[in-house]
Amino acid sequence: TVSVEHLSRRFGSGAEQITAVDDVSLTIAAGSVVALTGPSGSGKSTLLHLVGAIEQPDEGTITVDGVEISGLRRAGLARYRQRVGFVFQRYHLLPALTVLDNVLAPVLPRRARTDHLTQARELIEAVGLAGRERALPAQLSGGQQQRVAIARALMGGPGLLLADEPTGNLDSTTGAQILDLLLGLRDRHGMTIVLATHERAIAARCDRLVRLGDGSVVEDLDLTEGEDPADTFDRAARLRL
Ligand code: ATP
Ligand code: MG
Repeated sequence: TVSVEHLSRRFGSGAEQITAVDDVSLTIAAGSVVALTGPSGSGKSTLLHLVGAIEQPDEGTITVDGVEISGLRRAGLARYRQRVGFVFQRYHLLPALTVLDNVLAPVLPRRARTDHLTQARELIEAVGLAGRERALPAQLSGGQQQRVAIARALMGGPGLLLADEPTGNLDSTTGAQILDLLLGLRDRHGMTIVLATHERAIAARCDRLVRLGDGSVVEDLDLTEGEDPADTFDRAARLRL
């Protein structure tokens, strides 16, 4: 369970100050898949960065499985980051490393990597890039790089996956396949997923939709309640994304 309480993050100072995340409180049940939506600049990426402990809040707390992450020191923080997978909005692949080495990058210590080769290859295959293990990021399309970033985030089987527009640069078929992969991991391993998305076909397949506006939660919908879960088409129409 991820519990966010009265979380705020500001950038800049004086008249220029922006409250990117403004007093957000949310409880995300373990094993649920939450879509974070809202217009550009509404604070989706900032909220994900805060939950992933990539940025620190100005106010408020984040508690994951009973541990308050803002209270963690270096070693605790490193351990927390090992259990969280993060897909950045702009992939952040290491340009000098092959696909395989990018996917293996989170594995520490480095000498443990040979133990994880099978998992890395399976993840590369799962995201549809079998055969491209030795390619460099620059030799891949944007969508393929996106998929490498997703495979990397899934290394080590994180309990929590934070994904910033994981299907943003993919065609709708590939995007749906990536979501199938993520939902399958949730079903099999109980992974909790929070993903930012602009696409209503993606949001409609999640368990819950949280819409941000100017850093605040403006809508919070349980999508699993009181309807046929297979009926995602009607659901998408109602979502007004
Ligand atoms: P998008 O859909 O375009 O990705 P978003 O919902 O992810 O948008 P954020 O990136 O979280 O929005 O940005 C929220 C607000 O905070 C914006 O006004 C943005 O300009 C500002 N902001 C985000 N990061 C920084 C930063 N490092 N320095 C200054 N301002 C920032
Ligand atoms: Mg963003």
